[in-house]
Amino acid sequence: VALPADPSLENTRRQVKNSCFSYVTPKKTANPELLHVSPEMLQNLGLTEADSKSETFLKVFTGNQVLPNTKPYAMCYGGHQFGNWAGQLGDGRAINLFEVEHNSQPWILQLKGAGETPYSRTADGLAVLRSSIREYLCSEAMYHLGVPTTRALSLALSGNKVLRDVLYNGNSAYEKGAVVARVSPSFLRFGSYQIFAARQDNETLKTLVDFTIKQHFSHLGNIITPETYLEFFKEVSELTLDMIVHWQRVGFVHGVMNTDNMSILGLTIDYGPYGWLEGFDYGWTPNTTDKQHKRYRYGNQPNIGLWNLMQLANALYPLIEDVPALEGVLEAYKTNFDIASLSMMRSKLGLRTEVDGDKFLVQDLEEQLHVTETDMTIFFRNLSDFKKDEPFNGLKAVEDSFYMPKEVSGAIEEKWNDWFQRYATRLEQEPFSDEERKEKMNTVNPKYVLRNYMAQLAIDAADKGNYKLIDELFLLLKQPYSEQSEHQKWFSKRPEWARNKVGCSM
Ligand code: AMP
Ligand code: MG
Ligand code: MG
Repeated sequence: VALPADPSLENTRRQVKNSCFSYVTPKKTANPELLHVSPEMLQNLGLTEADSKSETFLKVFTGNQVLPNTKPYAMCYGGHQFGNWAGQLGDGRAINLFEVEHNSQPWILQLKGAGETPYSRTADGLAVLRSSIREYLCSEAMYHLGVPTTRALSLALSGNKVLRDVLYNGNSAYEKGAVVARVSPSFLRFGSYQIFAARQDNETLKTLVDFTIKQHFSHLGNIITPETYLEFFKEVSELTLDMIVHWQRVGFVHGVMNTDNMSILGLTIDYGPYGWLEGFDYGWTPNTTDKQHKRYRYGNQPNIGLWNLMQLANALYPLIEDVPALEGVLEAYKTNFDIASLSMMRSKLGLRTEVDGDKFLVQDLEEQLHVTETDMTIFFRNLSDFKKDEPFNGLKAVEDSFYMPKEVSGAIEEKWNDWFQRYATRLEQEPFSDEERKEKMNTVNPKYVLRNYMAQLAIDAADKGNYKLIDELFLLLKQPYSEQSEHQKWFSKRPEWARNKVGCSM
């Protein structure tokens, strides 16, 4: 299927109608310099390390050269931002370069921060180094954590200065410009479909959905009927659910789950103001612009997934025209989320069997974690040292994870001891030894995640021209479940100076 393209061939801002994308030209930059390349992504694309050192690689992945027979383009999409329909958004600072197929896996290569497109609205189409470091490190880290995600191939300086009104430092400042080459089988979002439904352009909507099914859901068959569309929606809903359960497992808070940031393939996309839970807190959001309503807080991510799927259902309605069927899919999401979430929490506790009451064991734990301001990552990792015959030593096993001062109040200590007692009793019903449980738990409870302050340290050093920490963190986060005892310093609580410090996306 050929997708309708914008006939105009330039980057000026405009409403683009009846088209899925617009051809654009990346902006040349003053002095491009590669800071990091992902060896795994090189390999996935069939490139060698030598390729990555070539002049062509540098130029292509900073927007300074367009490969022959390729036509870069920016995609048209809309979206709901913080619950409100925002109309046309589109790739305002992302440009798709070309598609590569290697080992039967198709990949789209995209630049983020390579200049204006028809969708740039009031902004400049550029990206700064700090947000680019955050995207580059986190997307690869998520992949190695086993979370469905878009990937990154390279991180480069553009050599240009970019002006930002910074939430970050409190005043406007010029910052180093950067370009990340992002990679994904598809960058289509819920908003890619919503825009055509909103414009009552059912013809383009159908073309795009048919294209998506043929490209990415081909197992649904060649003959496309309204049932195929429903099946497609069901699969998107399952992929979305799976992604969010993974987020909950590792304590990742996306921060801007607008419908334009929801991948149709259920991949984590758009690493903006995301953050990692340190103290376990369902009410936490890293997004400073969302501090009042906290729409995108950790505990609300599953609901927002549902809300976003409802918007997608509305967009696909003209092709399906079956309200009960669509509602059935949304109902299933709710039920399945509860099941998947409990099963994920069981795995974090090292429980492989299912027993009535597990739900309460989990709920009471979560409450305790919150009340005692407990570091989520350290707690679950160290919980694997728990000995079922020594429940009274439970608190000791996890004591490094508490942000509260050592003299925890007697009441809290008692509550913890009660919980450990229940946990020990529950473990009696498992046919596994402490060692077997530990081994299993350490495959779902990461030891290393990209804590907000770690990314910040890499950013601060990079601002001063030192890029070594980017590489150190990149290597560390490639094996988030391994002990890596030589890197123990990154397995520690957030330092006090970093409390309430989060990154920002712009
Ligand atoms: P986000 O909140 O990052 O999902 O962005 C929302 C919309 O704003 C998308 O259409 C982006 O492409 C666009 N956008 C964000 N930053 C920029 C920028 N620096 N220049 C142009 N468009 C941008
Ligand atoms: Mg976005
Ligand atoms: Mg963004």
